[in-house]
Amino acid sequence: MGFKHKDILGLQDLSGEEIYLLLNTAENMKEINSREIKKVPTLRGKTIVNLFFEPSTRTRTSFELAAKRLSADTINISASTSAVQKGETLSDTARNILAMKPDIIVMRHSISGAHHYLAKRVSCSIVNAGDGAHEHPSQALLDMLTMRERFGRLAGLKVAIVGDITHSRVARSNICGLTKVGAKIYLAGPPTMIPQGVERLGAVTVCKTIQEALDGADVVMMLRIQLERQGKTLMPTLREYSRYFGLNRDLLGLASPDVMVMHPGPMNRGVEISSDVADGPNSYILQQVENGVAVRMSMLYHVSGGELPTE
Ligand code: ASP
Repeated sequence: MGFKHKDILGLQDLSGEEIYLLLNTAENMKEINSREIKKVPTLRGKTIVNLFFEPSTRTRTSFELAAKRLSADTINISASTSAVQKGETLSDTARNILAMKPDIIVMRHSISGAHHYLAKRVSCSIVNAGDGAHEHPSQALLDMLTMRERFGRLAGLKVAIVGDITHSRVARSNICGLTKVGAKIYLAGPPTMIPQGVERLGAVTVCKTIQEALDGADVVMMLRIQLERQGKTLMPTLREYSRYFGLNRDLLGLASPDVMVMHPGPMNRGVEISSDVADGPNSYILQQVENGVAVRMSMLYHVSGGELPTE
């Protein structure tokens, strides 16, 4: 099966088969990343623009490395250095970039749906590197790759996702993707941070306490409190949040003995996760980052038509 989409805007738009295709290619890409010379000519002659309207360290660097390892030419534009600061609209910024004939625009934007708006209006591929509180498909794919590597499967895994679900694009993309491949999702967080109707995204169980979600879990995914998106305070204090929804070594004892602990980063140590868990033997946080490059290579490869360059 080939990949039929021009863009990757979210996992909501992809089938389970397409998700597996992206993961399988990412697994092959990992082999390239372990070579001494980490470069193949696959996207030679292609131009990729990384257009970031929100801060990012991991995701932007990871997409840039992915493009470079596939031999594409890359340009980075971030909001603080772009004409957006001078009042330019998204359409105008995009139109100007398009005049330079890029093949792929990798974009992060604080408005949910900004990518869908753009994708309808341009002929080049749009890859979503995070849109507001909506989706973050590359993060969910790298999470799924890391889980599959560890357990050899995704179907039937019990995955607890804990924290600010309402404002988390990471949670939303993981719910969409993981339910399509048969994982079982348990959500926990303060009631003010669990979106109404979350079940519509996929078959999930909403738990009242973190203990209930962790019980026998194979994977525990902790989320950062999205203070920049909350608008108003949704919890009394960070200390109280941490007391009821922070992960520590004692609570981890409720999960399966070989539980994987994951976090998309950036972490607030001592708030949603204690340092001994974040750095402990069950933590896969750095493997997630490592797998991010391979997953993004796979995404760029597939939106380019998945073809090898002709000599
Ligand atoms: N880095 C992730 C994102 O951009 C998670 C986070 O910011 O908490 O969505």
